[in-house]
Amino acid sequence: MFASSALARDVEVMRLTSATPDTTLASVRAAGAAAWVEADAIRKQEKPSWWRLQLTPEADTSKEWIVALKETYDAELVAYLPPDYRARPISVFDPAWQQIGSRHRLSLRLAAVDAGAPIYLQLFKGRLQPMHVSAAPLDDYITVDLARVRFTSMILSALLLLGVVAAVYSVALRQWHLLLFGAWVMSAAIYVLVMSGEIVALLGDSPLLRHAMRLLALAINLGMVAVYIFIIQFLSIREHYPRLARVMLAILGMTALLVVVSIFDPRSVIANQFVNIAVVVLALLSLGVAAGRARAGSAHAWFFLIGWGCLTFAGMTRAMYFLQYRGTPEWLEIAHPSAQVLGALVLVLATARAVRHAERELLVARRVAATDALTRLPNRNQLDHDLAELVQQAEDDDQPLCVMFLDLDHFKAINDRHGHAIGDRCLVLVGNILRRHVRASDLIVRYGGEEFVIALEGAGRERGMLAAEELRLAVAQEGREIEGRAVQLTVSIGLTDFRVGDQVESLLTRADAALYRAKREGRNRLAADLLP
Ligand code: GH3
Ligand code: MG
Ligand code: MG
Repeated sequence: MFASSALARDVEVMRLTSATPDTTLASVRAAGAAAWVEADAIRKQEKPSWWRLQLTPEADTSKEWIVALKETYDAELVAYLPPDYRARPISVFDPAWQQIGSRHRLSLRLAAVDAGAPIYLQLFKGRLQPMHVSAAPLDDYITVDLARVRFTSMILSALLLLGVVAAVYSVALRQWHLLLFGAWVMSAAIYVLVMSGEIVALLGDSPLLRHAMRLLALAINLGMVAVYIFIIQFLSIREHYPRLARVMLAILGMTALLVVVSIFDPRSVIANQFVNIAVVVLALLSLGVAAGRARAGSAHAWFFLIGWGCLTFAGMTRAMYFLQYRGTPEWLEIAHPSAQVLGALVLVLATARAVRHAERELLVARRVAATDALTRLPNRNQLDHDLAELVQQAEDDDQPLCVMFLDLDHFKAINDRHGHAIGDRCLVLVGNILRRHVRASDLIVRYGGEEFVIALEGAGRERGMLAAEELRLAVAQEGREIEGRAVQLTVSIGLTDFRVGDQVESLLTRADAALYRAKREGRNRLAADLLP
């Protein structure tokens, strides 16, 4: 995508072997060839240092050229450019600096007539990481720069979108830990904004710009703390490896402390290197946990391995380069943000999937809680809700509704004589008879023990009486014998109909009173409490 690494050869980087703070440009320019040594990049020096950047003799100096400095960020540099060699402080985050193209690189422009002349740089405060130098004819530079800007815009839009998606999921699904994840996605976006220099376009000449590197350190550290708290939850590390979770939280605590340090001193070696090491350690620990959980068959862990694995590889490679003070190689400038987007996407999808699973489990649990295990009929938990609906409907539509209470006769005696297992078979049989004799829209509930409630939607007195009598006969007939035993199963039924102003409670009370009458009058019969 960007061919600029090949362009680095067009420029020669030389460092002045000895210089004192008060060395003047005149003396630097006058220094003989022996005073300069070749360098591959501009590196941190103990004291202010002088550098000379010059196109190699092979470069086509009939064109306008750009000499570009990579990752200068918070370095303090003064540039002396031909033809006037005026001292100009240069900085990526200085909106006053006349930049050619985007701020992905700090660009120094050489007119065609001056293309062969050297550029001098005075470095007052360097960075820990090297600043790489490249050069390209203006047209080529702009082409590559545009590609970089396009890529950055793509990454930024993807990150912002995923951050918003995470926040929306978090609120909609009440998965508050997803907010931590969203915070990390936003910190990745800030990281890309600052590293690409695009933050200058965003903040204009706000004084905040002077603190861009502080903002970056803050975003990275807080983002990392947030995402690993999220990951501890995502992989259920506390449940599966409680001690490891404590170690990870301790490291995160330290990192949070270093956030404070980095606010005051963004260049702090201890803070920066601790964070780099912490990234490696936490990444390895969580990938190890995920590998273990994936082997145990967790699909969730596989998601993590794929999404976070790529990002970890990119992040760790980056940290390795930093630990060796080698800066960011060109390919990582593409791989790292891409991996951030991929990781964010996969984890958002994995969380959505986990929530869907949890919802399904909840649904199953609800169904189980509302169903009687023996007869598979709805149980009493369900009755109140469903009957209330039928009552409301009857009230609203002025439709009839019949409710009956059923209780098996002398069931205790059946249990005692034939055993509990036969008793259970009787209950299942009755459940099936009830199911067969009422409509699908009617409500059958195992109320408890050997008691059932049935509500017949839209049924008036006649139909209610008929249905109840039919049930009574069916139980008496089919319940004569169970598994070769003469059980002589019968049922008593109390029937009532809906009246204006009735509630679930009043309906059931009347049906129960009617049932009591049926029992008193000799069982195996129907007693009705109906409006004339
Ligand atoms: P009645 O005609 O007055 O209703 O007499 P009954 O014996 O049926 O009345 P009671 O309420 O005293 O007894 C109900 C019996 O139902 C008691 C209990 O052993 C039995 N029972 C309740 N639940 C179950 C169950 O799930 N399985 C079996 N096998 N028996 C049950
Ligand atoms: Mg009973
Ligand atoms: Mg009974």
